[in-house]
Amino acid sequence: MGPLQIKDILQTAPENQSVVVKGWVRTKRESKNAIFIALNDGSTIHNIQAVAEPGQFSAELLLTVTTGSCLKVTGQLVESQGSGQTVEVKITDIEVYGTADPEQYPLQPKKHSLEFLREIAHLRPRTNTFSAILRIRHALAFAVHQYFNEKGFFYLHTPVITASDAEGAGEMFRVTTLDLNNLPRTEEGAINFKEDFFGREANLTVSGQLEGELGAMALSKIYTFGPTFRAENSNTTRHLAEFWMIEPEMAFFELEDNMDLAEDFVKKVITYALTNCKDDLNFLQNRLAEEDKNKPQNERSLPLLEKLAFVVDNPFERITYTQAIEILLKSKPQKEGKFQFPVTGWGIDLSSEHERYLVEKHFKKPVILTNYPREIKSFYMKLDEDGKTVRAMDVLFPGIGEIIGGSQREEDYEKLLGRVHEVGIDPENVWWYLETRKFGTAPHSGFGLGFERLVQFVTGMGNIRDVIPFPRYPKSAEF
Ligand code: ATP
Ligand code: MG
Ligand code: MG
Ligand code: MG
Repeated sequence: MGPLQIKDILQTAPENQSVVVKGWVRTKRESKNAIFIALNDGSTIHNIQAVAEPGQFSAELLLTVTTGSCLKVTGQLVESQGSGQTVEVKITDIEVYGTADPEQYPLQPKKHSLEFLREIAHLRPRTNTFSAILRIRHALAFAVHQYFNEKGFFYLHTPVITASDAEGAGEMFRVTTLDLNNLPRTEEGAINFKEDFFGREANLTVSGQLEGELGAMALSKIYTFGPTFRAENSNTTRHLAEFWMIEPEMAFFELEDNMDLAEDFVKKVITYALTNCKDDLNFLQNRLAEEDKNKPQNERSLPLLEKLAFVVDNPFERITYTQAIEILLKSKPQKEGKFQFPVTGWGIDLSSEHERYLVEKHFKKPVILTNYPREIKSFYMKLDEDGKTVRAMDVLFPGIGEIIGGSQREEDYEKLLGRVHEVGIDPENVWWYLETRKFGTAPHSGFGLGFERLVQFVTGMGNIRDVIPFPRYPKSAEF
């Protein structure tokens, strides 16, 4: 079905057999004795070299074989004369599907800045860096499904349009069918958003968790993996307005089981990438090393593959929030007043600066932080015995900070209702959620992993906008 992909052709023994290659031209080089065309079809980081003789094709045709043009090349697969590859194509025929005017095509063979490439999200997958990232992203997504499938989880599709605001952070995009010129009003004259969606309130989902819990209360172990939306006007390197979240939810799991699962899960999917994306990871590792060259020795990062292997091979540190605060209070930047957000004491929410200090400077490995103060966590988390903290867990990673947020869920109806009131949620909006605690409640736990943060970690990319094909953030490109 369809033509062979370049990744397969490169693995084929060169026996002078005829072959058809389709792909985009990366470079064209003409020497006295030959014309070399490097073709790539996105199936691999490697190009295949196609070689023609001078005079074999008309000057007019060769003028349209430009960087970025798309070709069908027919020829013989022969042993390569050059170094670095085993096969090449001796061209007998060229068909140009589409040329790319060198005056206009932005991806000329030179190094482009990531900022520039963000402006041309429609073309950047044609670069080595982005095609490598997208292949790794694909492999990680595949590994996620494989992992959960093998562990007996069911893939549950939670709604994108929903009324629930799981996180209570008010970061929802509204969905509305209302005529904005003729808005329905309440008796007091305010806009009646309850009429948003054919008579109901509606938002884009900020998390599939609440619905995921309903699934776990029937199928025992489920996971969601879908688009998630948060209207945060955030310009950090780790927030997007549209991202993908993986949310497993398990009946009969306590916090410790939840931590074990989270740790095993990230290690296994990273291992999958290490095994199956070697060439792409090597490419990205070299790219990062190139960037690091200009930095002083002590600011250079570990080679990417070593960094990934370290995370896979070593147990994560597990500490409580209270222990973390003690460490931060005693830390050097705290004493020297160098934290941008000073640690004022027990009860503060941790910034990514604090999280990264714990991971990168103190423990020098991923950290799972547990038992946060109830005031800074969501209503659905199970209260600890002292009533001050909740059975929460955040997994913190080097270079990023929080990558996973999770908890054991409150299964006690009265306690949950108390929390709903405490944080000011209208119980009527979550009646269906509360009912799961009324009818056959069960201990259960789950977590949410931001998929892009995982891809960021595995690819070593500094900005989350560079690990999703079409990033959505304030002022992002319009397509
Ligand atoms: P942060 O503290 O970084 O804003 P959060 O605590 O608000 O994250 P959670 O509600 O715990 O996030 O969501 C679970 C996971 O989803 C996070 O650990 C993170 O990996 C990811 N995530 C959250 N918000 C975003 C976002 N805007 N863009 C990308 N990933 C996100
Ligand atoms: Mg947030
Ligand atoms: Mg957080
Ligand atoms: Mg969180």
